Amino acid sequence: MDMSETIVIKQHLIDPEICIRCNTCEATCPVGAVTHDDRNYVVDADKCNHCMACVPPCPTGSIDNWRQMPKVKAYSVAEQLTWDVLPGELPPEALVESVCEPTANASQVDSLTEAVTDPQTSSLVAPANAAAPKHESFSATLPPWSAAHAYTNLYGPKAADKTITATVTGNVRVTEVGKLGNSDYDTHHIVLDFGAMPFPVLEGQSIGIIPPGLDASGKPHHARQYSIASPRNGERPGYNNVSLTIKRVLEDHDGRPVRGVASNFMCDLNVGDMVQVMGPFGTSFLMPNHPRSNIVMICTGTGSAPMRAMTEWRRRLRASGKFEGGKLMLFFGARSKEELPYFGPLTSLPKDFIDINLAFSRAQGQPKRYVQDLMRERAADLAPLLADANTYFYVCGLKAMEDGVIDALSHIAKGAGHAWESVGAAMKREGRLHFETY
Ligand SMILES: Cc1cc2nc3c(=O)[nH]c(=O)nc-3n(C[C@H](O)[C@H](O)[C@H](O)COP(=O)(O)OP(=O)(O)OC[C@H]3O[C@@H](n4cnc5c(N)ncnc54)[C@H](O)[C@@H]3O)c2cc1C
Ligand code: SF4
Ligand code: SF4
Repeated sequence: MDMSETIVIKQHLIDPEICIRCNTCEATCPVGAVTHDDRNYVVDADKCNHCMACVPPCPTGSIDNWRQMPKVKAYSVAEQLTWDVLPGELPPEALVESVCEPTANASQVDSLTEAVTDPQTSSLVAPANAAAPKHESFSATLPPWSAAHAYTNLYGPKAADKTITATVTGNVRVTEVGKLGNSDYDTHHIVLDFGAMPFPVLEGQSIGIIPPGLDASGKPHHARQYSIASPRNGERPGYNNVSLTIKRVLEDHDGRPVRGVASNFMCDLNVGDMVQVMGPFGTSFLMPNHPRSNIVMICTGTGSAPMRAMTEWRRRLRASGKFEGGKLMLFFGARSKEELPYFGPLTSLPKDFIDINLAFSRAQGQPKRYVQDLMRERAADLAPLLADANTYFYVCGLKAMEDGVIDALSHIAKGAGHAWESVGAAMKREGRLHFETY
């Protein structure tokens, strides 16, 4: 048997149904693995080294797709260029069958599986018979059944208008002034007004911001994506505006000093300044609208933006007396109280309206606590919500939280006597578990 036939890779693919052909990934990829024709943007499996540089800048999330494939059967560039839809995951038995001699067994296949380092997780690419990446297996791609209709890509490369100009009507700091480690932490609440131009949004959607100027290679900057932090009827009700929660990036993911282009541009804006915007984006991370539907929100840092939008919409409905909402539960993690956006307004919300659980991982003189620790502590309250078809879970913030949250949910389901695999699969099918991490 040719050993190359036994290798299973995690193939990086682009979803042609969602991609807006903005060229960001091709411009970002350091090894030239992304290419395109008039029809599609695609990734060359022979070149892609899984560095993940293209994933955060992609305004639609269409680049964040991965499939386990026998290396000899990896989708070629030519084949991907013909796609209208992304193929599904191969069943594990197909992977095993396709790479085995008739006499080989699963453990032989395991030992022959190629180890490819995944820099994002510092783990190895999963072997043929291992589980798919955790959060991807359970993350819904459909919205709750009662979600409102979301408009998307009204402004973008494929639209008649590539961008819409918004005017800054507010910019305030929502974290206390302070320093942690080597850099200041500084998060801003920024309000953008679209005037008379249509820009309908829903809680959970995001927009793309195009910073002015050129990048190091002389090309216009690519768009950066930001979650909308205001409810559907505007930061100021009845006005055509949205708010954003933006953290000033002053160090990269490895703690090296850096000055993030878009986040610093946005945090430095003054009232009256103009910003080029694309979007809106997102069709699944949307809130339920039916009476007595419950929402469980799990977030870190600026992942609080969509949670603020959902909470504020429910708060306005409650104030109007027109809606019988269900429970709201929030698990919110930050390094310290000072670094937690909206700490003051959040803690003044009525206790009978929202059940707030805060976790600080670097609070002075206190043990480290993460959102998943709090979730485990609240297992008795979360277990019935996991099983309740009217409860919707949302996870937003750092990519690193994904596995910890899934582990906590799995622990809670098991503690209540349920198999997480079936609970999680049902939640995905029913549009009840949503991830947006970056
Ligand atoms: C779906 C989605 C929603 C998002 N929502 C928000 C949001 O609501 N609020 C928000 O502040 N950001 C959000 N982001 C992240 C945002 O799009 C930018 O990636 C971020 O602001 C950095 O952009 P920049 O131009 O300032 O940095 P860049 O100039 O693009 O990057 C500078 C360096 O910093 C690193 N870096 C990039 N992002 C971060 C980060 N967040 N922390 C530390 N290092 C980083 C890069 O790897 C690079 O080395 C979201 C991203 C996605 C994909
Ligand atoms: S993961 Fe890295 S190598 Fe692969 S396409 Fe994206 S930027 Fe290029
Ligand atoms: S960055 Fe995302 S939306 Fe833009 S071309 Fe690449 S995959 Fe498509």
